[in-house]
Amino acid sequence: MNWDVVVIGAGPAGASTAYHLSKSGLRVLLVEKEKLPRFKLCAGCISARAKGLLPEGYERLILNIIRFGRLGFGGLKETKVDYLKDVAYIVDRRDFDKFLTEKSQEVGAQLLHAELLGFEKEGSNYRVYTNKGSFKTEVLVGADGVHSRVASLLGYKKRNLFKSLEFFTDGTLEEKVLIEIGLVRRGYLWVFPHGEGISVGIATTGKEEILSILKEYSYKKGIKYHHPKGWHIPFPEEDRDVHLGKERVLLVGDAASMTDPLLGEGIYYALWAGKLLSESLLMNPSKPLEAYRKVLKPLIEELIYAGKIARLAYTFQKVAYKMGKEYVLQSFRSVLTGEKGYKELYWKGWISFLKNLTAEKLSSILRVHEGRHYRGIA
Ligand SMILES: Cc1cc2nc3c(=O)[nH]c(=O)nc-3n(C[C@H](O)[C@H](O)[C@H](O)COP(=O)(O)OP(=O)(O)OC[C@H]3O[C@@H](n4cnc5c(N)ncnc54)[C@H](O)[C@@H]3O)c2cc1C
Repeated sequence: MNWDVVVIGAGPAGASTAYHLSKSGLRVLLVEKEKLPRFKLCAGCISARAKGLLPEGYERLILNIIRFGRLGFGGLKETKVDYLKDVAYIVDRRDFDKFLTEKSQEVGAQLLHAELLGFEKEGSNYRVYTNKGSFKTEVLVGADGVHSRVASLLGYKKRNLFKSLEFFTDGTLEEKVLIEIGLVRRGYLWVFPHGEGISVGIATTGKEEILSILKEYSYKKGIKYHHPKGWHIPFPEEDRDVHLGKERVLLVGDAASMTDPLLGEGIYYALWAGKLLSESLLMNPSKPLEAYRKVLKPLIEELIYAGKIARLAYTFQKVAYKMGKEYVLQSFRSVLTGEKGYKELYWKGWISFLKNLTAEKLSSILRVHEGRHYRGIA
């Protein structure tokens, strides 16, 4: 059988793409190498603005609703805010990804449990090779995550990666999330609720020993420590870091580096981009890449502005913490609920940021910036 589209990977990006394309009547094969439900290292925090992108019935997957934010600094002090409304939801990725995949199957996508091995051009189509046979398709979508085989076969190499560690353990947080800055140069440690327990993790772009930082933090805070698992989170700094694909081989989600450089949020962007990819394919079936690039502009702009904020916030972590209650936590709320975008926050944030940047801060900042001692920020 010839497929209109073969999608590799049944994470949020691939399942969302398969859902929208199948709903529009295209013949879609969704290829996933793991048997679903499968484990995916992730805190499973989905911003409230993603609600409109989720298929009917997602509510039953919500383990926790987030209504309170806490920002910590170096494990030493904390500031809190009550958001008075839902800002995010916690899901378990096993159930969430399976749910999205089933939704795509309900509207006609066919799921194949197989691993992509490679692909090549065959006339005006593509021949896709898996360990369960080969398939002919007009369009190939690489939604196969951060270490995407489709992307590497196209010749892409990711420039920016957070390395991260996470473990799940006992604890209760209910509606609160805690983000700790001041522990790594660029990134943060989190303690999020996860159903009846909690997830504890850390992400950085630097070379710190995050295993010992995570361990030490857990012991200090009385968190029952388990050996964490590690994975990468890709993010863009410039337009060219978002890899969209070539000809009729398109990339989406982590495969394309569509993760926010400030918070490492990827689920929302994967869902959004999956929808946009399907729209662009319907708009311009013979040259979908052109349409894809066009419709993705607002999404890419968001990621780039999140990156600009990340550079400021992580370079000047003490100032970011000082701005915590009044500004940072409220800014998280407005982004996560979709009231404001990162671009707006970036420009408005400058005024508030400069107000907080006193001479005393400036000198400690300069020390950090020069890289003389990272302890200066803690
Ligand atoms: C520790 C950690 C915590 C995170 N926490 C959050 C969070 O709280 N909120 C948030 O929004 N984001 C978070 N993220 C980021 C988020 O997990 C990703 O951005 C998101 O999963 C991207 O979705 P995706 O569909 O692009 O890729 P993935 O979810 O990685 O899915 C890719 C799929 O492709 C399959 N696959 C790979 N190769 C092949 C192949 N050759 N053949 C067939 N199938 C293949 C994989 O098995 C997988 O199912 C976190 C990431 C990490 C590492």
